[in-house]
Amino acid sequence: MLLEMKNLCKSYGETIALDRLNIQLTPGIYGLLGPNGAGKSTLMKLICMLIQPTDGFVLFDGEDIRMHRSNFLDRLGYMPQHSCLYPDFTVQEYLYYVGALKGMHKKDVTFRTEELLLRTRLMDMKKDKIQTLSGGMQQRLMFAQALLNDPEILILDEPTAGLDPQKRLELRNLIAEYSKDKIILLATHIVSDIELIASQILLLKKGKLIKADPPGALTGQLTSKVCEINFSRPLKELEPYGRISSIYRRKEDIFVRLILNDPAILPPQASFVYPTLEDVYLYYFNDE
Ligand code: ADP
Ligand code: MG
Repeated sequence: MLLEMKNLCKSYGETIALDRLNIQLTPGIYGLLGPNGAGKSTLMKLICMLIQPTDGFVLFDGEDIRMHRSNFLDRLGYMPQHSCLYPDFTVQEYLYYVGALKGMHKKDVTFRTEELLLRTRLMDMKKDKIQTLSGGMQQRLMFAQALLNDPEILILDEPTAGLDPQKRLELRNLIAEYSKDKIILLATHIVSDIELIASQILLLKKGKLIKADPPGALTGQLTSKVCEINFSRPLKELEPYGRISSIYRRKEDIFVRLILNDPAILPPQASFVYPTLEDVYLYYFNDE
């Protein structure tokens, strides 16, 4: 199974949202990481055929997805960035409705609905109106609808947006649990959403793919570019050396983590530390 973007471009009037993207995806979890406006949602909508490319193609197993539209959509699940739920529907009605839209057999819809309600812990709410559900439950329902047709390709656009850390963790675990043999593309600007579950991270900046590597390779590439220093003087004094990644307290001491401009020039008393994915994000997206 191979999903490919070939020279994919999308402009909205003067705005270039995606600029000649070339990506190849085989089964695995791919974290699409970039700040707001990077083009993440645009890429996802192109894959889901909700919008048309200005140039280039999306290919599935070597064929233009537009040539096999309904066959491709049968194999796709999509969780949009903004709610696609109907507040007046009950949870169960909504999943049955999505099943009908996807052209599934009634028997399959009933069976899958039960299974997904159980797995997403929504069984007790199946007769409740969606408007009475908490934010976390609504996100889980959006996730469930994307999985209804047991898709091989799963497109998740900021699935954890607005959730507290515990709910984010729960959804992240659910995604990992369902990832077997699927191509999962997960857009986020929150590093912790993907650092433990993504097999590859795609860094998208102003419509361009600037990196595509496993998390360990991305952090490895920054070795000897990040240092830590016990520092209690004005932070301004560190400015010539690099950019501050974070400041933390350890017992009584304040530590500053710095992404260096030049690995050969460290502030006095600083020592190198192993880079994290947070550092990677700041290294590439600091100016945004
Ligand atoms: P992301 O999901 O990474 O935040 P988007 O794909 O939503 O990024 O947006 C990429 C760029 O395209 C942004 O500059 C955004 O303002 C622009 N854009 C997105 N959708 C539209 C639209 N329907 N009309 C005009 N500009 C758009
Ligand atoms: Mg978006």
